Amino acid sequence: MKIRTKLQLALGTLFLLITLLSAFAIRQVNLLSGDTKNILVANYQSLDYSRNMLRVINTDSISSYNLQQFKTYMERQVQNVTEVGEKEFTTDLQMYFNTLQNHPEDKAALLKIREVLHNIMKLNMDAIQRKSVIAEKTADNSVLWLTFTAALCISFGFLLFLNLPGAIAAPVKKLTESIRQIAEKNYSQRVYIDGRDEFAIMARSFNTMAEKLEEYTASDLAQLMTEKKRVETLINNMADPVIGLDENHNVLFVNQEALNVTALKRENIVSKNIRDVALTNDLIRDLSKEAVLGSITTREVLKIFTDGREGYFEKNIIPIQIVPTGESETKQIGSVIILRNITSHKELDTAKTNFIATVSHEFKTPIASMKMSLQLLENEKTGTLNEEQHSLIDSLRDDAERLLRTTGELLNITQVETGKALFKVERTEISAIIQNAVEANEKFALRKEIRLSTPDLTNLPEVIADAEKAEWIVSNLISNAIRYSYEDADVTVTAHATPTHLEIAVHDYGIGIDEAYHDKVFEKYFRVPGTEKEGTGLGLSISKEFIEAMGGYLHLQSDIGKGSIFTAGFKRA
Ligand code: ADP
Repeated sequence: MKIRTKLQLALGTLFLLITLLSAFAIRQVNLLSGDTKNILVANYQSLDYSRNMLRVINTDSISSYNLQQFKTYMERQVQNVTEVGEKEFTTDLQMYFNTLQNHPEDKAALLKIREVLHNIMKLNMDAIQRKSVIAEKTADNSVLWLTFTAALCISFGFLLFLNLPGAIAAPVKKLTESIRQIAEKNYSQRVYIDGRDEFAIMARSFNTMAEKLEEYTASDLAQLMTEKKRVETLINNMADPVIGLDENHNVLFVNQEALNVTALKRENIVSKNIRDVALTNDLIRDLSKEAVLGSITTREVLKIFTDGREGYFEKNIIPIQIVPTGESETKQIGSVIILRNITSHKELDTAKTNFIATVSHEFKTPIASMKMSLQLLENEKTGTLNEEQHSLIDSLRDDAERLLRTTGELLNITQVETGKALFKVERTEISAIIQNAVEANEKFALRKEIRLSTPDLTNLPEVIADAEKAEWIVSNLISNAIRYSYEDADVTVTAHATPTHLEIAVHDYGIGIDEAYHDKVFEKYFRVPGTEKEGTGLGLSISKEFIEAMGGYLHLQSDIGKGSIFTAGFKRA
């Protein structure tokens, strides 16, 4: 039975019993009051009338006034005949009264009247006694029945008082305890409540939920284990060394490749703090630097000897960030160090560099001799040339110069890449460097109608530099400024001494460079997208490598559409 029905039944019964008790009490009180009324109205009044009639005739001589009073009481008595036999007595009374009325001296009639009156009084007194017994019985009955019904109500109420709170609280307590167990992840918890009431239904639903949770966690765990194994296998089979750290820099996992390159045994690194391992392992010290400091540097190339062979690895540190369940802030829970094996790329790159170096070296001499031949051709002594031949020679010379510049740049970059660039760093006059670089570009500027203005070259401090490379740098900056300027514009070269450096700034008013590319233009082979002028994208990267190797710097300020200022800072002597 449902709790609701049970409650309705129990409280309904209690209500019914109380109603019954009340109705019964009212009925009994009514009965009692009926009995009393009976006595009062029917008998007590007859007694009163009779007593008054006796009093009226109880005199020596009966006056007409007495008779009149007597008559009044007698008439009232006539109206109040209630007992069996009373009517006859009252009729006799009327008859004797009539006699007395006619003969007030008739003693016999008077006597008869007294006798009749005594009879009426006795009759009513008997009736009163009889009715008192009945009333007493009714009262006794009422007390009995009322006690019985009240006892029934009290017992039932007491039963409810004892059982009802328990019947509701006990299953709630059971359920509360089980829910607490579930909250503590004890999914094997079950609740047993018999019956078909709401609590039993709730218990069954609870058990189903617990069962599903148990099944879910079991399957979830199994699935997690499979996924973990899958990831472990994947990491182990990766050709690149991988080391996983938790947020306290303890090593969580490491793959076979990582063990090979670090020459460590698994038990000497897994579950250990990377800082402790770094104390005895140089490579781990190198690798863990950024992971421990929390800074991320990617693309750093490390040269590592493994299996007696030189290998190149690109270090990547990936922070592992998650948003914990129920939270909104991202939290770092560790990091993964990946060493990307770039040995094969490096070998290919070296082959390419060697190839470019050989080819550009081989090109340099024939191009130089082509330039010489062109110069000879232009000489009057070798014969006069017509206008058309002159212009052909001009364009051939331009091409030869461009070829020479390109091969020169390629050769320089191969030297930078292989670390074979030789620097003859010494005290040098910067004025000569600027002068030569400007002169080398004068013809070019003239052709583009560019006004090239030079600084005052007197009193400039000496610098520490490789004169040839310094000239190459300044010349490259001026040639870029001319190439990326519009025709009929200005290019200004200025010199400015700082306490440590001598800065040469090349200022043009050309197309300018978008801020997004300010760092990229110094990368090898990078050209700003959409650049129409021919070029290799090598000049600035070589310049930067050269100047930094000499203790200087190369900076750029540029606004798209307004022009650029490249500043080369050479170390002061
Ligand atoms: P490139 O041979 O292409 O000129 P550089 O390394 O000298 O190679 O320059 C890289 C790129 O930077 C150029 O392709 C060009 O897009 C941009 N750049 C260099 N100098 C300037 C300049 N003065 N004004 C505008 N863009 C320039």
